[in-house]
Amino acid sequence: MKKALKQFAIFVVMGIAINMIVKSSFSKRGLDNLNQPKQETIQEENMLKDTTFKDEEGRNIIKNPDDILVLVNKERNLPSDYEPEDLTIPEVPFSFDEDLEKRYLRKEAAEKLSLLFQGAKEDDLELFAVSGYRSFNTQESIFNNKVSQSSLEEAEKLVATPGQSEHQTGLAIDVSSREMNLLLEEDFGQTEEGIWLQENSHKYGFIIRYPEDKVHITLYNYEPWHLRYVGENAAKEIYENSSSLEEYLGFKQ
Ligand SMILES: [Zn+2]
Repeated sequence: MKKALKQFAIFVVMGIAINMIVKSSFSKRGLDNLNQPKQETIQEENMLKDTTFKDEEGRNIIKNPDDILVLVNKERNLPSDYEPEDLTIPEVPFSFDEDLEKRYLRKEAAEKLSLLFQGAKEDDLELFAVSGYRSFNTQESIFNNKVSQSSLEEAEKLVATPGQSEHQTGLAIDVSSREMNLLLEEDFGQTEEGIWLQENSHKYGFIIRYPEDKVHITLYNYEPWHLRYVGENAAKEIYENSSSLEEYLGFKQ
């Protein structure tokens, strides 16, 4: 009788333990991921899979330029003829008055930027949009100007090569403040407006694309003024992990 009772007790304890283990796994990863943990890993590693092709000169050309999560950097070029189809003007103050292409952003990014500016205003901060969309041709003339002023090598350090500017996606915007005289300089990161952007942009789906501690990954200097729209989920994850878009997408150099 005692033996049977002991066996029953062990059985009950084991049952409770298994139940606890299963429950904690479920709460950590969710039902789908519990059943397919391998697939989850593969998907994460392959977020950039098959998103470029090589052109005749051996450059990687981006195949998914309309993707909100498109990755543009020194190794991934936008097609020279890529122009977003849904460019609109965000309802925010600009640092200039003219109707220029740099006033435009893709529709979703424009709407979320308006909300971001409203959020800053509610915290008594005044932001100004300085530069949004930039066509391949504009980037080309900026780049060529720099080359003629200095050298190709110098220009490549200071200005994005045509096709490699994130501004061509219509998902990037440079922002400044009165304190900065509406200029785009590193000190912006220390101002109230710059700090607010670092802490709040993700709530509206934006990230600081070129963080100070990720220069070795982005290969761009710190740009506290350059916001990139990636959508709320990605922005939240990038913010919470203090990572870069390259790291989030699993980009390997
Ligand atoms: Zn920029």
